[in-house]
Amino acid sequence: MNRLNIAIDGPAGAGKSTVAKQIAVKLGLIYIDTGAMYRALTWKALQNKVSITDAAALTKLAAATEVVLSRALTGQLVVRCDGVDVSDAIRTPEVSSHVAELASCPGVRRRLVEMQQHMAAQGGVIMDGRDIGSTVLPNAAYKFFLTASLAERARRRWLELQASGYQIEYQDLEAEIATRDRQDSNRAVAPLQMAPDAICINSDGLNLEQVIDKILSYISAEF
Ligand code: C5P
Repeated sequence: MNRLNIAIDGPAGAGKSTVAKQIAVKLGLIYIDTGAMYRALTWKALQNKVSITDAAALTKLAAATEVVLSRALTGQLVVRCDGVDVSDAIRTPEVSSHVAELASCPGVRRRLVEMQQHMAAQGGVIMDGRDIGSTVLPNAAYKFFLTASLAERARRRWLELQASGYQIEYQDLEAEIATRDRQDSNRAVAPLQMAPDAICINSDGLNLEQVIDKILSYISAEF
């Protein structure tokens, strides 16, 4: 059993989940998308009309919510919130535009970080997010900070959304990503930041294979 963990952090649309998924397959690790957990809770708050700015209500909601990540036979990530499959519902522009506000709530973060640490306790996971190397898995064997220019990140996300059938103006998407990055970087608790011992990879001008090769080049053979 492989017991080392890998952390991948970075701003929205940097390609963290695509890269992490493929590295998980190559190295036989379990991939954990922590953004999906914040999104699932945002989906539930919106469904239940809980105010995204009411910290006490959100903390209570988080304590009473079960978010489970699993994998379908096709390899697709399945996200369940209290048993409901929300895999598609958490990717809507509405959830995207509210998630950073919810993620700034300390009570929400406490609960989700606890769940994430529990998921990684046995080792053998690759986890992506914003605070994995700095807060969730400070002892991860490898920490990467994946980034790219705002224009490149927005372009990639726009193509992904188009492929999933969402019609969204490129300019609106770029503005949403910039706002989310600002909120994630400036929040008081566990902001988006590079851990001092993380390896920074800028994927501008690199294709997926090149980014994966670069990351794998840092991971030693004993993994
Ligand atoms: O990774 P993704 O873009 O799906 O994350 C959605 C949002 O969830 C982020 O913009 C951020 O507000 C929040 N998040 C976080 N900490 C993490 C992962 C995601 O605050 N570890």
